[in-house]
Amino acid sequence: MYGNLPPAVRYLIVGAGIHGLSTAWQLAAQLRASGLGDGSDVVVLDKTGVGAGASGIACGVIRNNYFQPAMRRLMAHSVSVWESDPSDFAYHPVGYMQISHEAMHADVASIYEQQQAIGYPSTFVEGASQCQAYMAGMFDDWQAEGITSILHEHRGGYAHNLAALQGLAAKVEAAGVRILDGVRVTGLDLAGGAVEAVQTDQGGSAASSSWSRPARGPVTCGRCSTCRSGSASATAPVDCTRIDRCGATGSCRRAPSRSTRARSLTGPATRRRSCTSTPTLPCTTRRASS
Ligand SMILES: Cc1cc2nc3c(=O)[nH]c(=O)nc-3n(C[C@H](O)[C@H](O)[C@H](O)COP(=O)(O)OP(=O)(O)OC[C@H]3O[C@@H](n4cnc5c(N)ncnc54)[C@H](O)[C@@H]3O)c2cc1C
Repeated sequence: MYGNLPPAVRYLIVGAGIHGLSTAWQLAAQLRASGLGDGSDVVVLDKTGVGAGASGIACGVIRNNYFQPAMRRLMAHSVSVWESDPSDFAYHPVGYMQISHEAMHADVASIYEQQQAIGYPSTFVEGASQCQAYMAGMFDDWQAEGITSILHEHRGGYAHNLAALQGLAAKVEAAGVRILDGVRVTGLDLAGGAVEAVQTDQGGSAASSSWSRPARGPVTCGRCSTCRSGSASATAPVDCTRIDRCGATGSCRRAPSRSTRARSLTGPATRRRSCTSTPTLPCTTRRASS
């Protein structure tokens, strides 16, 4: 052990904000669902603690109101995650309204059209008198002037930041993930474009303040002639049933497919390789690269 740190970890996530915790939660679920591992393969580090960053001070608005079209489906999905457990996420599904003056009219109209295209429920009100009537129908003392468009999203709402993060952290830990507070990442050791080791301020070792053990060890198939005869057995070979056997050459090369790339955020790169008759890289020297 290095202080509170395990000597090595398969998946390390830096930062216990909304992104780090969400990644850990989904990664643990994907690992378990695919049979490739579980939450115990994942560690989240934070230099301070859960919600210490922007996630802990955000306004807490949950909406599908970002201007970039590429956000539309992503935000719809994100809202559905909030809706999946309003209690644990301290989520209040009251909807969201953008109440705009004329300079915003065209842009907001385009957001509405994109929402309609994906079936995201919203109402778009145009015209000063129509907007006044719409708002007065909800708030009888409504007095704002110069409003010419209203986009009323019927999903979304707001969440209490820290309570939401604590609820998410509880789900993450329930999935077996360890969240370690008070550990600052100070550097990354790279090898071949991959992170080989992570340095922290909690080394616990007189020799080094770095957490210098590899996050992932060398990857071997454990079956080909090269692996079986070489030093590969000294490492921890991955389950041979999950990767292709090497060919007669005893060598493999990475051959990422479209699906490999698409799934690279949720699955280790070691899982999909293909054998080839063209030796390129001895499998004893390959390392996971994502
Ligand atoms: C004032 C404000 C209001 C906002 N309002 C909204 C809103 O209403 N709705 C909305 O959707 N978004 C809002 N946002 C944006 C939203 O808060 C961020 O996009 C989101 O919180 C980013 O989450 P994150 O996990 O990426 O980062 P963070 O929450 O910042 O988490 C990063 C974590 O990494 C840790 N960390 C950093 N460096 C290290 C290191 N070297 N070693 C270890 N740990 C480290 C930090 O301690 C921190 O806990 C708002 C942002 C701000 C600032």
